[in-house]
Formats: sequence, structure tokens, C-alpha cells
Amino acid sequence: MQMESNCLYRQTWAEVDLAAIRHNVSSFRHWLPESKQLMAVVKANGYGHGALPVAQAAQQAGATWLAVALLEEALELREAGVTLPILVFGHIQPEAFPLAQEHGISVSINHFEDWFGAVKHVDPSLAPLRFHLKIDTGMSRLGLLGVEELERMIISYKEKGSSQLVWEGLYTHLATADEEDSTYLQQQLQRFQQARDMVQRAGIPVSYVHAENSAATIRFRQHLDTNLVRIGISMYGLYPSPWMKELLPFHLKEAFSLYSRLSMVKRINEGVGVSYGAAYRAKQGEWVGTIPIGYADGWRRALSNRAEVIINGQRHRLIGRVCMDQCMVRLVERQEVGEKVTLIGGQGPEAIRIDDIAAKLGTINYEVPCMISARVPRLYRP
Ligand SMILES: *Cc1c(COP(=O)(O)O)cnc(C)c1O
Repeated sequence: MQMESNCLYRQTWAEVDLAAIRHNVSSFRHWLPESKQLMAVVKANGYGHGALPVAQAAQQAGATWLAVALLEEALELREAGVTLPILVFGHIQPEAFPLAQEHGISVSINHFEDWFGAVKHVDPSLAPLRFHLKIDTGMSRLGLLGVEELERMIISYKEKGSSQLVWEGLYTHLATADEEDSTYLQQQLQRFQQARDMVQRAGIPVSYVHAENSAATIRFRQHLDTNLVRIGISMYGLYPSPWMKELLPFHLKEAFSLYSRLSMVKRINEGVGVSYGAAYRAKQGEWVGTIPIGYADGWRRALSNRAEVIINGQRHRLIGRVCMDQCMVRLVERQEVGEKVTLIGGQGPEAIRIDDIAAKLGTINYEVPCMISARVPRLYRP
């Protein structure tokens, strides 16, 4: 494993299974029609998995595009030598557009100010600025609003556009693609269809038209007339929502797991408290283990007294409050210091899934690997 001999003085680490990423990407690749290119979404450090190794694995398995949220994230990938096309979804200060030109990064035009900023700041001495126009069809986050704004955009593009400004893509983002009721989804798709019809009628040749995130990709496979799908969560082996599991003919493999090792083991007497507030009291003599991971690692305080971990193939419950750097576990029997603790992942017959942690926190699976902070080293299984 890469970084294996790295100094883990504390012995808390996350493992990212790159073979699982490759499996997920190539399964989608083979299931989807060839007409659809696969864009691997690696924003937010690859949903906490590590943007660069994930991008490389995705490329090996057939992804032909990458996407990130920030220009900074795209620049980091370029600096690391990534050559695939990259789209930045989020807002970029137009003053920075020349940086995108210089590094061959495609930007999103999310509203008129972006467009006028592009016209003003594009650097004619560099390669053209390539942009994907985003249409807001009902997400109300980013994108031109409706057909009237698009009409204005088309007029302005014909007036002000130049060979330095290449309209490369048209896209939208769907708000409810993971929900069984498709009413709102259909409305968004209709609006998107209107938008593409307008761009087509205006005779603007846009290379990429895209709308699908993981959920819409799973749901529609080839049934939307687009030529690029933007896959995030499912590349990491997670389902956008539980009911979608049945829609895929292949299994996704979870790539992220989280481990530590007991740093202390002791027996406490009846009535003795554990952690701040002494909110947990031993009901009898009990074995207690200390795990060197806490809320500063993203192992959230809300998991106090709730989360379970696996030690020696058996589930154990956390007791007392999660501290900044550590938390405690009630042991069913004495364990050795250094014994492996699985916080996320499988061990023996037991497994703790990202979905289980998300449920305990009342959140979605997306948030779980993202919340594990940079202090936890990521080790890569090739
Ligand atoms: C994050 C993101 C995606 C990926 O969504 P998943 O549900 O993780 O597949 C796609 N498109 C846009 C615009 C995004 O911001």
C-alpha cells in the first residue's frame, strides 16, 4: 500500500481502495452507451478520498473528463500533471479566467456577470477560454434563469463572442433525481430541452450537453439525449439513495474505510465516569479502550454514545463524549493496546457502512467521507 511505511505515530488512518474506484467507473463505462462520456467528479478532494489518486484511477478505468467545484482544485490537478479536460462547476472571479486559459481548464458561465467578465478579462494572447453555460432549470443554485436569460445570452454571444471564447458545453443540475417521484425531475428536464432547442436553433455548435449526476445516470442510463454524465457519489461506491440499489445490474464497491488502534486499555470500577461531563458511568467493573480519533478528525461529537466500532470481529459501542482527539469504547473483554479498530469498513463477519454513520448523524452518505479531516492520512490500496 502506498504510504504504508509512512510514520503513523498516532495510528489512525483512512484507506482508499482504488481498485473499487476503477471497478465502479468501468462498470458504468460498460453499462452506458459509448456515446456518453464519463466525467469523474472529484471536487472537495474527491469527496474526501483524495482528488489526484481518484482522478488517476478514474482515468485508467475510462473517464474522459474531470470536474471540480473550485478553480483552485483544478489548478492542483494540473500542477500534479493531470492532462484530462477539467470543468469547474462553481463561480470563479472573472479576473482569474486567464489562469483557466493558461492551464486548459473549462469554466462554467453561471450568470451574466460571468459572461461579461469573460468578455472583459479573456486574454487574447492565450489559448481560448472554453466555457460550459449552466441553465438553472429548478435547482436555484447557479445558472442562467430560464429561456429569457438564455435568449439574451445567445444574442450577446453572437455580438461579443470571438474565437477566444469557445462555447463548449450546455448543462443543468437536477434537484430530485434520487427521489422516486419524478414530477419535479420531468419539469427540469423539459426546461432543459427548451434551452437546448434554443441553442440549436441559434446555430451554436456546442460539443457537450449534460444533465445527469449519479442518480440520473442510474435512472436513465441511455434515455436522455446527452453526451456526458457527471458521476460523483457512485464512483466512490455509494448510492444516491437506498432505493436506487435495485436499478443497477452491477454492484458498487465502497472505496473508503477508516481505522485506528487502541491506544490504552483499562478496567474501571462501577460508578466511574467516562469522558467530559462523566456522562457515561460504568454500571459494573468494565473494560474501556481509548481510540485516538476525535472530532478534530471529523469523527463527530454527535457520535458520542451512539457509534459502534469493530474490534476483533465484534461490534462495540462508543461510550462517553467524543473528545477533540480521542474517544472511548466499551470493551466486552480485555483487548491489547494496538488492537485494530474499524470505524468504517468490514472486519471479520461485521461491517460498518458509510450509510450507517450517515444515519446515526441524520445526514447523507456524501457528508461522511468529506467530514473526515485532512489530519487523517489517506492510504491508497492500488
Ligand atoms: C457534485 C455535482 C455532481 C455529482 O453529483 P453526484 O450526486 O455526487 O453524482 C454533478 N454535477 C454537479 C453540478 C455537481 O455539483
